[in-house]
Amino acid sequence: MAQLIDGKAVAAKIREQVKLDAERLKAERGVVPGLAVVRVGEDPGSKIYVAGKQKAAREIGFNAWEHHYPETATQQEVLEKLRQLNEDPAVHAILVQLPVPRHMDPDALISAVRPEKDADGFHPVNAGKLLLGQPAPRACTPAGIMRLLAEVGCALAGKRAVVVGRSNIVGKPMALLLLQADATVTVCHRKSDLPREVAGADILIVAAGAPELVKGAWVKPGAVVIDVGMNRMPDGKLKGDVEFAAAAERASHITPVPGGVGPMTIAMLMHNTLAAASSART
Ligand code: NAD
Repeated sequence: MAQLIDGKAVAAKIREQVKLDAERLKAERGVVPGLAVVRVGEDPGSKIYVAGKQKAAREIGFNAWEHHYPETATQQEVLEKLRQLNEDPAVHAILVQLPVPRHMDPDALISAVRPEKDADGFHPVNAGKLLLGQPAPRACTPAGIMRLLAEVGCALAGKRAVVVGRSNIVGKPMALLLLQADATVTVCHRKSDLPREVAGADILIVAAGAPELVKGAWVKPGAVVIDVGMNRMPDGKLKGDVEFAAAAERASHITPVPGGVGPMTIAMLMHNTLAAASSART
């Protein structure tokens, strides 16, 4: 039976360290990290996520602001706000909560944030730096997964890592971080032969957004399984992308949904905000 990877506990530990580092930054340089979140429209999930991010930021002593625009706002209005936030010295990190309404171009909004204030690591400059292995804010979910893997002592060098999903916010940055850690990486998508690829994975990361897409019987005995999926079912419960019970029979370690990757994403956002504040010129 697999050992559960407790993302909540690891995230709490990271948040505690960020809090201590933020206290030191304030004492030594008078800087209080500031996170501004821009949310557009009424997506119910986004409202909950943003509230969680604001709460986490305030709990560790950061300044946190939410700028909420109605569904009818224009892209120009939001771009103007991003320009103001870029210029505001109290704001060290900026996040545009996705998804944005269909009449807006998310890429244009993400690109309007100054790369050094890009809390999510999604700006093209930061995505490029990740590709090149240069320091930059990293996408929070993949960075959080790397911390979870380290926490359970999962060696990556020379191991076969399989990433299911190739989105710009999870799958692709995840694959690049694993590659940097000397894993041999395969990235899967809708055209891939999933049962075959998954069966070869020592480390399996699933971020497809399809409930129980990956069957437990496909999992290699002893594999480390990280389930990023957060699928809201008709009964209101959250389900992952991996058939949990059957996969747990074969894996050595596995993340639950909820309580696995989710809390790490917020913890890494706090980490990125602190890093932006620490390197900002005062
Ligand atoms: P996305 O829809 O942008 O990308 C999904 C990817 O999975 C695509 O590349 C697609 O090719 C692939 N995919 C979809 N169905 C597939 C199938 N049947 N077979 C093979 N590949 C398939 O999604 P995303 O933003 O990357 O998010 C993925 C999941 O992770 C979602 O459930 C999302 O809610 C969750 N998520 C969780 C966190 C967290 O903090 N826990 C953060 C981000 C995303």
